[in-house]
Amino acid sequence: MARYTGPVCKLCRREGVKLYLKGEKCFTEKCPVTRRAYPPGQHGQGRRKLSEYGVQLREKQKARRTYGVMEGQFARYFQKAEKKKGVTGELLLQLLERRLDNVVYRMGLASSRAEARQLVRHNHFQVNGRRVNIPSFSVKPGDVIEVRENSRQKPRFKMMAESPSRLVPAWLEVNPEALRGTVLRMPTREEIDAPVQEQLIVEYYSR
Ligand code: SF4
Repeated sequence: MARYTGPVCKLCRREGVKLYLKGEKCFTEKCPVTRRAYPPGQHGQGRRKLSEYGVQLREKQKARRTYGVMEGQFARYFQKAEKKKGVTGELLLQLLERRLDNVVYRMGLASSRAEARQLVRHNHFQVNGRRVNIPSFSVKPGDVIEVRENSRQKPRFKMMAESPSRLVPAWLEVNPEALRGTVLRMPTREEIDAPVQEQLIVEYYSR
């Protein structure tokens, strides 16, 4: 299960938007996107006109980096979305949004998706009563995600139970004291606040 381990703020600067990859730092003045609002590297401040392909590529990269997914896995998500009935771009975002690490992040139990991924990998969660340590596990309506009994006393979960911080999307129901969340239904496009134009991703893969 490969993952990106390089500097993440550079990714936001490359895309020119906040992707919220660092947790708390993203909400402070230290965020490099606000301090240095140009792409990283020697030629970052030069003039830059993107081709049609470049625009599509950037959109795909933005989505991929937001959810912390590697190239091959992202392409497989696209193939899966393409095979389903409906709007491919929306179905792609729905598949990404239903990843267990994203759901843990949306529930407010981690400050970033990267942290959520690590918590899942470290066996802190169960789905429908069974331990799941696969960050890409896809949740479905009716699934109950909760912190495992042995992990409940960990200071980080205790703190989150006492002061839930994030606005939870309507497709999830969260009980902060019980450290438990239920998937009520599939997320709609309006409820997925990823800063991407999914149609451009579809165009990227349709070249
Ligand atoms: Fe870094 Fe977060 Fe700012 Fe992105 S949004 S540049 S991850 S601090």
